[in-house]
Amino acid sequence: MQEDSPVQNENTPDTTVEQPRRGRRRNRLIVLGAAALVALGLGGVTVATSGPDRPAPTAVSLDAQSRADAASRADRSARESSAPASPSASPTVSPSTASASPTPTKTATAKPKPKPKKTTRPTAAWVDPMPGASVTSCFGERWGTLHAGIDLALPSGTPIRAAAAGTVTQAGDAADGYGNSVFIDHGNGYLTHYAHQGRIAVSVGQKVKAGQVIGYEGATGDATGPHLHFEVHQGMWNQIDPAPFMRAHGVDLGC
Ligand SMILES: [Zn+2]
Repeated sequence: MQEDSPVQNENTPDTTVEQPRRGRRRNRLIVLGAAALVALGLGGVTVATSGPDRPAPTAVSLDAQSRADAASRADRSARESSAPASPSASPTVSPSTASASPTPTKTATAKPKPKPKKTTRPTAAWVDPMPGASVTSCFGERWGTLHAGIDLALPSGTPIRAAAAGTVTQAGDAADGYGNSVFIDHGNGYLTHYAHQGRIAVSVGQKVKAGQVIGYEGATGDATGPHLHFEVHQGMWNQIDPAPFMRAHGVDLGC
């Protein structure tokens, strides 16, 4: 009997009862319509929100790409510090992280640049043994004999410099016409010879650097005047023309 009572209530012809029910149905329709509109609106909203959301994933992917590129260049510490920031960050924040992430990578990539130090350049370089000197005689036949070196003239006492790094193998006056002379073995099969020095500044066994002062110009031995007699030996006492040899090493002696 209790189930019948609501049915009877619905079928009751009493207008006073029906009017509020019609009102309820209208309200229900309005609510349903509103719900549908809301659903459509939400759909529209979701479509609308998916629009602005689309550039955000691309921003995230760009951020990921830039971070991947940065990670390939940067060390692991920089990669691990920047990686946890992006997943927790919202898409709107990711552009800021994308703009922020390249700056640490630039500093990270700038750091390895000073690592390669060109410390081998000074030892490998060849220099003019007496810069600014005038050539008074080149390598070649002179007075019926071979002039086995290049004569470089400057006032007496001018410093004479090692043409390249090496070890002093002879230093002194051997009474062979060269006067005070110095031999430097450069360790590559070549030696340089500096003759007629007024004073010698190195000793046998001493290691010298390119450009290091080994003595001072003079006129000892068979010399008509102060000058440096400079020789290049391809193996001891096998003199070659110093001009092309030095030119091949970036030094123009003028012959
Ligand atoms: Zn000479």
